[in-house]
Amino acid sequence: MSRAVADAVARLAIARAAEIDEFMSQVYVQTLEDLDAGLVRRACGYLARLERGEFESAMPSVGTIRNTCATIAAEDARANAQKLLGAMPKSDRAEPTYYCLDCHDEPSGWRVFTCRGVGEGASTADTKWTPCGRIKPHGAHSFAEKCVCLPYNPVSKAARDRMAVAQVKRTTRAQRKGRHD
Ligand SMILES: [Zn+2]
Ligand SMILES: [Zn+2]
Repeated sequence: MSRAVADAVARLAIARAAEIDEFMSQVYVQTLEDLDAGLVRRACGYLARLERGEFESAMPSVGTIRNTCATIAAEDARANAQKLLGAMPKSDRAEPTYYCLDCHDEPSGWRVFTCRGVGEGASTADTKWTPCGRIKPHGAHSFAEKCVCLPYNPVSKAARDRMAVAQVKRTTRAQRKGRHD
């Protein structure tokens, strides 16, 4: 059993104030053991810092951890590819390109998903569903989650910085106006 993965899972449980016993922790470790331990550690570290959503379970599911690993690995690959591409001129690309294909660099980082629900109330419609992670029976609903790119995405960060600067300018202008009028 991978000590590093077990350690990452335990830290995640503590950070999210989730109660997991020895058996649960073993299941987590066994189902994550095929992944790179460093990647799992980073994914758990990322998830540990996320705010707990209203309907989320305290302990992120194995699926969530695996998805986060995949996203981090993809970000790494993209960053490496970018480095290799070096000074490739941006104007050569006709289509809009996004740093994050999931949220299209949404400045707030929020993504909205729709959960089919669980049990009798679950929707049978044929559309794109994302399970919210709750196991108890419930009807279809939408929920929002911060995109995993948020701590890494330079495009959305730049947009947030721009908005913050604009906000400060607006406030300063309003204050100055108030003094002179
Ligand atoms: Zn994103
Ligand atoms: Zn749900």
